[in-house]
Parts: sequence; C-alpha cells; structure tokens
Amino acid sequence: MNWQVLGLVSGATLLGVAGLQALGAVVAARRRARASQTHCEARQVEFDRQLAKELQWARASKPIFKAWEGIRPFQVTAVVDEAVDCKSFYLVPTDGHPLPRFEPGQFLTFNLPIDPRKKPLVRCYSLSDRPREDYYRITVKFAHPPQGNSRLPAGDGSSYLHRRIDVDSILEVQAPRGAFFLDPTDNAPLVLIGSGIGITPILSMANTIAHERPDQRAHVFAGFGNSGEHPFRETMRQLNAEHENLRFDISYSRPMPADQVGRDYDHRGYVDLARLKQLLPSSNYRFYVCGPAAMMATMVPALRAWGVPKQHIHYEAFGPASVNSIAPTRTTEEIARGPCQVEFLLAHASLAWAGNHESLLDFAESQGVPLDYGCRAGNCGQCLVSVKAGNVEHVKEPGLPLKKDQCLTCIGVPCGDVVLEA
Ligand SMILES: Cc1cc2nc3c(=O)[nH]c(=O)nc-3n(C[C@H](O)[C@H](O)[C@H](O)COP(=O)(O)OP(=O)(O)OC[C@H]3O[C@@H](n4cnc5c(N)ncnc54)[C@H](O)[C@@H]3O)c2cc1C
Repeated sequence: MNWQVLGLVSGATLLGVAGLQALGAVVAARRRARASQTHCEARQVEFDRQLAKELQWARASKPIFKAWEGIRPFQVTAVVDEAVDCKSFYLVPTDGHPLPRFEPGQFLTFNLPIDPRKKPLVRCYSLSDRPREDYYRITVKFAHPPQGNSRLPAGDGSSYLHRRIDVDSILEVQAPRGAFFLDPTDNAPLVLIGSGIGITPILSMANTIAHERPDQRAHVFAGFGNSGEHPFRETMRQLNAEHENLRFDISYSRPMPADQVGRDYDHRGYVDLARLKQLLPSSNYRFYVCGPAAMMATMVPALRAWGVPKQHIHYEAFGPASVNSIAPTRTTEEIARGPCQVEFLLAHASLAWAGNHESLLDFAESQGVPLDYGCRAGNCGQCLVSVKAGNVEHVKEPGLPLKKDQCLTCIGVPCGDVVLEA
C-alpha cells in the first residue's frame, strides 16, 4: 500500500460509526472552506479525493496508524523563534504530494544524522499546529545540560535542530503517530493542560477546537516561567479573544518585573489542582495533560483524587523521567517476580534478569547488548522487537498498537524466561 492511501486514515483511525456523522459535518465544512480558497484546481481535487477516502476508511474502521511507511524527506521552509531556547520548524514534504492529516496531539519521529559515522539519532516532537493541508510544524526546546552540570553536553537532538538546521535543510521524518490525541467522537467539554514545552500538543488541540469544533468548549491551562519563556503568546491571545468556546488561563511561576497580571498572564504560580478548582465549576470534563515530570507526577494523581475517572484523563510524557514519576500501570517488581533468563537472539546473548532494572532496554544496555531506542517512553516504536518465546509485559500503555508477539523494550519487562529477536 502506498503512503498516499495510508495517509488518508490518520484522521479516521479510531472513528467508530458514532463519529461518522461528525466527520461528515467536518468534511462538508472543510469542503466549503476549501471552495472559497484560491488554491489551484488540481490540489483541490486531490484534497477532496483524500477526504472522500478518509470517510471510506472511517467506515471500514481499518486499524492503520501510519500515514506512510519508513522515512519521508521534508524541507524546512521556516524557522521561527517562539521564546527563549524555543524554535518552531515548518516542514513541507520534498515529494510535493499532499500531507496526510494527523490527530491533534500526535507527534513526528525524526531520524537525525548527528554523526555520519553512527546510526541516526531518533527523536520525537509533537505537532504544534492544527492539521493543515500544506505544512507540519514542530516546536523544539533546546535541552541545556542539567543545572550544576555545565560540563555535560547539551541534548543531542535539540541542539542539532537548533544549531544545524535552518531554512532549506532536509529532515527525515516518520509518519505522525501517538495515542495521545483528541477523541474525534467525543464532544464533551475539555480541559487542556500544558506546561513548558508540553504546550506543543495542547496548542495543536486548542487550535483544532477553535477552527474545526466550534461547538466544543475547552479550558486551556498553560504554565510557563515568565513572558520570556512563553511561546505562542500572540497565538494564545488571539485564540482567546476570537473563539468564544476557548478560554485560556496563563500561569507564570517566575514572572519578570515587567510581566503584568491581567495583561501578560492570569495567575502567579504553577498550574495545579488548586488553580483548576478556582476556575472550573466541577471535575466533569475530559482532561488532556502534557508537561514536565514534576507537574505530571502531581497533576494526574490529583485529578484522580478529585474524582475524575481514569478514562477521562489523557496524558503524554515527553521522556522517561516523567513516565516513571506517574504511577505506571504496574511496577517492574509486580510484573517480573523472581529471576529469569532473557535471550537476545541476534546478539547471541542469554542473560540473567534479576528484576532490578526498569526495562529490558535498561537491562540490555547494562549488559553491553546494544538495542535500538528513541523516546525511551513507549511512544516512538524504535525499540520494538519480536518476542519469540515467553511473555513481556509493559509497565505503561504503549503509545502505538503492537502485535501479540511484539514488545517495546523501553517499557517492557519479562514475565519469566523470554527469547527476543534482538
Ligand atoms: C511523544 C514525545 C513528544 C515530544 N514532543 C516534544 C516537543 O514538542 N518539543 C520538544 O522540545 N521536545 C519534545 N519531546 C522531547 C524530545 O523528544 C527530546 O527528548 C528532547 O528534545 C531532548 O532530546 P535531546 O536529544 O536534545 O537530549 P538528550 O541527548 O536526550 O539529553 C537529555 C538531557 O540529558 C543531558 N545529558 C547529556 N549527557 C548527560 C549525562 N552524561 N548525564 C546526565 N545528563 C546528560 C542533556 O544535557 C539534556 O539536558 C517529545 C518527546 C516525546 C516522547
């Protein structure tokens, strides 16, 4: 199947029959909007064809998640400074074919050739704009060395993007992916919570609500250090002013002397449950949360304690630190009781697992078995391997669909002896 056909489904993948009507309305609205634009006719025809197939796929409910196979080259058409150490990259496919729709909240995976002698570095970045016909956008925060450790190197992927990528650079991109996205079939009121660079998927969702779902209400709680660290300030101001159904609440934890409450931000402090309770009449919302480890570690349990059902709390963690600090579905110890044997077929190694590693990936690395990995958070799929014998369980929900005999080593632990094709 070619990428064009695969591409049609990213917006329809999880739609059931209930979502078809809503999708039909969206299709009609988009057609009307497109008709008023001055795009060339061929492009319009292609877009309509794509939408028609999207509907077809929704009806067939095909469980396909990828919009294209493997990597696709994209040209950087603009690089925009959004805040201190924060840049957006606008991406257009070099093949000139249309862009498949993604679900707001999903991310792209990049193969970054930071060192030509080594395998590309794999990194994930959320799509920060709403789905558009002509470009994707990601927004990347430069990862400085940890505080007090200035001799350590800056983050490899983010420094490569910030320092070596500019307009006209080509990037190798895997298809949009991820299970953290707005449910297209649910019109219930939303609370979108984004802090720091975790605002990227949240902004994509807010933008989509504003432009495609005027009947859905959303409170957006966004937290930053201060105005210097606040990306998309103007966008947020505009969305808040122009869309009745969207309400932004901006928190600054360390406002600068010139930052004014009421003008630059709404609340001094962090985005926390106390702030939510000040502004929300009840906990009866669908919650989408993305932010740094500290916020994720407190916000998700606080929402549960406030009585929000588990199925109404959706969250994305950008890295292993935040994943670990949110209570996983089960701990490593609960799953892997007692020692067992882990065989890595391709590495010709059979090793004793004592249960004191967070994941099979950590275990393999500690034993000198090199495995592929990307996000280390169960999202990007780079560490996916086949399980040839035995069982592997995941300590958190994988961010992509897996076959029965597959596991993600970055969040997988053995349940007894296992044989992995790795
Ligand atoms: C689904 C998903 C979506 C994401 N979306 C976004 C997004 O929209 N925007 C965004 O900016 N990021 C996003 N991320 C995070 C992103 O993928 C990267 O993890 C992030 O850019 C850091 O990667 P890096 O290669 O720059 O840093 P890494 O090289 O992974 O380093 C991480 C940190 O470790 C430090 N370090 C380096 N060496 C050492 C050492 N020896 N000891 C201790 N510390 C060390 C570095 O200085 C750095 O601070 C997302 C992640 C996921 C999983």
